[in-house]
Amino acid sequence: MKTKEIIKRARELSEPFRISKGKNFRLKDVDPDDTLDFTKADKARSKEALASGVEALAQLQDKLYAQDKWAVLLIFQAMDAAGKDGAIKHVMSGINPQGCQVYSFKSPSADDLDHDYLWRCMKCLPNRGHIGIFNRSYYEEVLVVRVHPAFLAKQKLPPELIGKNIWEGRFEDMRNFEQYLARNGIIVRKFFLHVSKKEQKQRFLDRIDDPLKNWKFSSNDASERDYWDDYMKAYEEMIQETSTKYAPWYVVPADNKWFTRVIVASAVIETLDSLDLAYPEVDESKLKELAAAKKKLLS
Ligand code: ATP
Ligand code: MG
Repeated sequence: MKTKEIIKRARELSEPFRISKGKNFRLKDVDPDDTLDFTKADKARSKEALASGVEALAQLQDKLYAQDKWAVLLIFQAMDAAGKDGAIKHVMSGINPQGCQVYSFKSPSADDLDHDYLWRCMKCLPNRGHIGIFNRSYYEEVLVVRVHPAFLAKQKLPPELIGKNIWEGRFEDMRNFEQYLARNGIIVRKFFLHVSKKEQKQRFLDRIDDPLKNWKFSSNDASERDYWDDYMKAYEEMIQETSTKYAPWYVVPADNKWFTRVIVASAVIETLDSLDLAYPEVDESKLKELAAAKKKLLS
């Protein structure tokens, strides 16, 4: 496939999952097992699509880096075992590591808790010309922290600031923060990898049964399943409240890893393509400099 076709296809594939306006979003409308027009037997075809997508991505990233104007921040959120790590690994496999930064946000440290919650994420924002990846992010502040109020209690917030509007306030701050980033040329795209409770169970069982995957399993992940419905409610409201034109969510079906990867790659391609990236033009004096250098090298 030619690059132009790949980009067109990427737009078609990612568009159905992009939420730019959250008001009417309902999580139940997204089937975690959805594979669009790919049948399950099409896994091979999807691998091809991913491979050509990864190549197109590499070309776009090269221009992003050379142009040194825009930055792209990709945020990944999901329940455990939804495939965040695999999606990041596969989609970014072709790109130049020099232009990419990945950060994982786990439980906050004592130093983190001594600051506002955006602080640790702000320190990790991508440089211009770079793609930054957040594996989890400040969105945990309206997910795990909302589901487990004990985390909020540890945040050392002045008690008078913890009212019933705290989540609404956080949504507003996140929208404003992302608007600020957009106004600074930092393009934010957010991915919720939507796995079903049934498929998650299967993946946990695989992690328990396969010695090579044992390290990935934590019993805490399994006990979080008791809070599944609370998490889904929190995710749904987060998407409703923080989907914007300048920082949309992609709600990506995640029961089939091969499909998830194709959609994430497509969304990133579509995003980079929308930036009108171009190699910097060389001016008259630079052309003279090049000609002089060539002459010297050939003499
Ligand atoms: P993953 O499951 O994403 O591959 P991991 O299992 O390697 O990552 P964990 O050690 O599980 O990493 O750390 C992630 C944990 O940290 C998650 O349970 C997440 O909810 C939690 N976490 C992240 N941010 C916060 C936060 N701000 N407050 C409390 N817990 C948080
Ligand atoms: Mg985990």
